[in-house]
Amino acid sequence: MTSYSKEVIADLIEGNLPWHDTRRIMSAYKDDDRFDKAIAALQDRVEWDAPIILPVSSHLFIADTAKGRHTLCECGHDFGHWTKNWKLSAAVLIRDSDELLAEIYPTADLPDPRWMELREFICPTCGHLHEVEACAPGYPVVHDFQPDLEGFYEDWLGRALPPEPGVAA
Ligand code: ZN
Repeated sequence: MTSYSKEVIADLIEGNLPWHDTRRIMSAYKDDDRFDKAIAALQDRVEWDAPIILPVSSHLFIADTAKGRHTLCECGHDFGHWTKNWKLSAAVLIRDSDELLAEIYPTADLPDPRWMELREFICPTCGHLHEVEACAPGYPVVHDFQPDLEGFYEDWLGRALPPEPGVAA
């Protein structure tokens, strides 16, 4: 069975590998410690030591901080407890006018701002754009899917989810 080094997996995460390599690794990416290698590569990349429990996206992580299990930006910005919607703690740029939408849609296919707005959720510390929502004006901020951490650890990794720091088991 093929096993890939932490460095190769780091390249995979960074998007540094050519697509045919990426596809080959993804499809052969069956070794049991793949999750741990991916986490180790991500942990090397971030500048903080809080153990990563699960990546939410390529620059957003659920990690065990001294304050508990929180959502952290790659830069270390703390978006609060992982069960809260991190978007509510983000800086938000709402594109709800022709001028603001035209920066994203420079061609003629401009959406009508009366019917659609773009919301960009940005890290207040490093400015990274974490997510974009397209929705009708006034629509509530979409609550992110909340991962089943216990199920993921037990069913996929075959081990118990580490206890959340500061929370009695
Ligand atoms: Zn950040």
